[in-house]
Amino acid sequence: MNTDCLFCKIAARELPGQIIYEDAETLAFLDINPVNPGHALVIPKKHSADVFEIDDKDWIAVMRASRIVAHALEKALKTDGINLGMNNRAGAGQVVFHAHVHVMPRFAGDPHSLWPGKPYAEGEFAKTADKIRSALT
Ligand code: 5GP
Ligand code: ZN
Repeated sequence: MNTDCLFCKIAARELPGQIIYEDAETLAFLDINPVNPGHALVIPKKHSADVFEIDDKDWIAVMRASRIVAHALEKALKTDGINLGMNNRAGAGQVVFHAHVHVMPRFAGDPHSLWPGKPYAEGEFAKTADKIRSALT
């Protein structure tokens, strides 16, 4: 664990997060500023900064978990599509330097880009996470 890292702290439960999926190597939780409700971040539990640093085992685990989360978002939120995205290094817009894949619900009529995201309306953060967790059981 990197003690200065926000996502390590969420993985260690030292900071709150709406966790929707977990396995031995990965964790998925909702982004606080989603491009659409349900926008999730999939991380390796073991700290690595980005696609250049992550090891093969964690990369494969993150890809696998991202697909599981994509299926859950489709089922829970009746999405019309899903974007997968990853920012690697500051030059590519990375802000949190713990590797993470964005899994983003999309709906017909959305503009090509929904960035930047915006916070959830009151009560919607927990409600959306509950819906997705139900789709994973
Ligand atoms: P990136 O590093 O790929 O640009 O994006 C980092 C993402 O982390 C952003 O979409 C941002 O909204 C999200 N984020 C930043 N701080 C927090 C936080 O404390 N909790 C959660 N759940 N997401 C965060
Ligand atoms: Zn970290």
